[in-house]
Amino acid sequence: LLEVKDVSKSFHVPKGPNGNDRLRALDGIDLRLGKGETLGLVGESGCGKSTLARTLMLLERPDTGTVRFSGVDPFALRKNDLQRHRRRVQMVFQDPYASLNPRLTAAEIIAEPWRTHKDLFTTSRDRAARVRELLHLVGLRPSDANRYPQEFSGGQRQRIGIARALALGPDVVICDEPVSALDLSVQAQVLNLLNDLQRQLGVSYLFISHDLSVVRHVADRVAVMYLGRIVETGTTEEVFGHPRHPYTKALLSAAP
Ligand code: ATP
Ligand code: MG
Repeated sequence: LLEVKDVSKSFHVPKGPNGNDRLRALDGIDLRLGKGETLGLVGESGCGKSTLARTLMLLERPDTGTVRFSGVDPFALRKNDLQRHRRRVQMVFQDPYASLNPRLTAAEIIAEPWRTHKDLFTTSRDRAARVRELLHLVGLRPSDANRYPQEFSGGQRQRIGIARALALGPDVVICDEPVSALDLSVQAQVLNLLNDLQRQLGVSYLFISHDLSVVRHVADRVAVMYLGRIVETGTTEEVFGHPRHPYTKALLSAAP
C-alpha cells in the first residue's frame, strides 16, 4: 500500500561548531506498510519520526528518494489528483488539548476536513448524518455533537481527533504519539478503539510512539529509527524478542 524508498531530507540550521549548516533529519529511509497493518515506529526524540510523518502527509518534500501509495508517487500528481490523494492519508495528533479548535463544536471539528474536500458529502444533511455515524464509530453520543472540546475529557477529545482523521475515509492513519498525553487507564481505551476501527475499516496505521509497551501491544511490525535512519525492522516478536541492532538492544534494556 505504502512504500518509502531511500528517502532523505535535510534542513537548514544555524552553523554549528563543526561548520555544518545542514541537518539530515531523514537519511535513506526505507519503509513498507501493508493494507490493514500497524507499523510501529520507535526512536528517541529528534530522530526524525515526525519529519517522516510530515513527509507522508506531503507536508515535506523529500530531497531524494521516492514515496509511493499503491504504486503512485503523490509528489508527481497534479493539483486535482493530489487533492484526492490527500484524503488517503490522515493524522491523529499527540495532544488532543492542543489539536482541537476550542471555538468549534465536536461536529464542526469532525467536519473540518470536508471544507477542503468539498465534493464529499455535499449537502448539510449528508454531513450531519456522517458526523453522527463518525461519533458513533468512535464511541461518542449523538448529543456530543454540539459540545465544545473543553467540555470533554482527554480520552473523549482524542476520540474526536480520531473521528476527524476518519472523516475523509483514509487508507492510512498516522498516529503520532496518540496516547502519550492521556492517563494510563484512558490510553488502553483509546488503543482498543484504534484496534476496533482497524478491524472494522481495514485502515493501516503508522503508529509513532516512544512507549515501547504501547508499541508492543498494537504493532504487527516495528521499525526502529536512530539519527534519521531505520536501523532495524521486523515483526513485533522479532524486534522485541531478538533485537539485532545495538541501538534496539539499548532501547529495550533501558525500557522500564
Ligand atoms: P520527538 O520524539 O521529540 O517528536 P522526532 O523523532 O519526531 O522527535 P523530528 O521532529 O522529526 O523528530 O525532528 C528531527 C530533526 O529534524 C530534529 O533535529 C529537528 O530539530 C529537525 N527539524 C525538524 N523539522 C525542522 C525544520 N522545519 N527546520 C529545521 N530543523 C527541523
Ligand atoms: Mg515528533
